[in-house]
Amino acid sequence: MIPILDLQAQYATIGAELETAVLAVLRSGVYILGPEVEALERACAEYLGVPHSVGLASGTDALRLALDALGVQPDDEIITTPFSFIATANTISRAGATPVFADIDARTFNLDPEDVARRITPRTRGIIAVHLYGQPADMDALLALARQHGLWVLEDACQALGARWRGQPVGTLGVAGCFSFYPTKNLGAAGDAGLLCSTHAALVERVTLLARHGSRQRYNAETIGYNSRLDALQATILRVKLRYLDRWNAARRCIAEHYTELLRDTPVVPPYASPAAWHVYHQYTIRAPERDALAAFLADQGIGTMIYYPVPIHLQPLYRHLGYQPGSLPESERAAAEVLSLPIYPELSDAHLQEVVRQIRRFYGIG
Ligand SMILES: *Cc1c(COP(=O)(O)O)cnc(C)c1O
Repeated sequence: MIPILDLQAQYATIGAELETAVLAVLRSGVYILGPEVEALERACAEYLGVPHSVGLASGTDALRLALDALGVQPDDEIITTPFSFIATANTISRAGATPVFADIDARTFNLDPEDVARRITPRTRGIIAVHLYGQPADMDALLALARQHGLWVLEDACQALGARWRGQPVGTLGVAGCFSFYPTKNLGAAGDAGLLCSTHAALVERVTLLARHGSRQRYNAETIGYNSRLDALQATILRVKLRYLDRWNAARRCIAEHYTELLRDTPVVPPYASPAAWHVYHQYTIRAPERDALAAFLADQGIGTMIYYPVPIHLQPLYRHLGYQPGSLPESERAAAEVLSLPIYPELSDAHLQEVVRQIRRFYGIG
């Protein structure tokens, strides 16, 4: 069995350290917010090179609260990619605004800035860029467009903590960065958790206020808030793991490089990495002829794969009313039909990697 991701393999390497940290929190009696969460917020801000970050209950909440803090209104349009996890778009709808989908770049799977430009209207307020699979979107072009039209760019960096664009950490290039610590992400908690960072102190302050019931002081609510607290157990786990993140991301990059080298003379298209991007390979995603048959064949050989994402968001039932049709966003739809993510995690052995490639070659009959 070669799973697509093996969290037990990671636990085997740092379990003792995690257990010590978790026990200390259990014994402390402080379980929600408190010094562990503050320490994580400082550690993440330092890691990202920004003055402020705020721990939240999930990556979805980071997006949702960011849109609220940015003052998104019901008549607003926000441009984003349909080739992402549903949370990118439905947080726009939750804010009362309308998601406007632009197509993706065929090579990077990220927003195509030229298509974004075509979809800007007088109602457009901002752009949510997703750094899909751990690769930064084209932030030069997106930020230039935003400047030209008076928009903001919010970064959905949920898959990309540690990735960089021209050397700068993603999440720090736009108006704010949203991160998820869902267990399968490159930095994963043992439950749900998220974080928002920004170079704008007022924005982080506003998100903090919203996430804490709209109250700075108890029983003195200033605005309609939410409960999006981070708990101390997740924070202490994340603080231990953050110290390993760069090593883990480097290991992912090595694995990706090796896959790409070994897949060179096969019919599959390995992922493209932009020279401006420091890709952290949350997923190693190929385009594969006869994708579904390949996935089934690999499953029979005990090799785990996943399709991220089989149905682009503009064609999911919740957005039927927006009027997109099959063919509306051809590159996103083609990607949905062709992509396959292969096993990748820092502990993946070279023997297993070679076995995955050997089976892919067998499938295509190239021994
Ligand atoms: C994981 C993810 C989210 C949501 O994060 P949660 O912590 O699961 O709420 C949002 N956007 C993208 C691109 C993601 O991968």
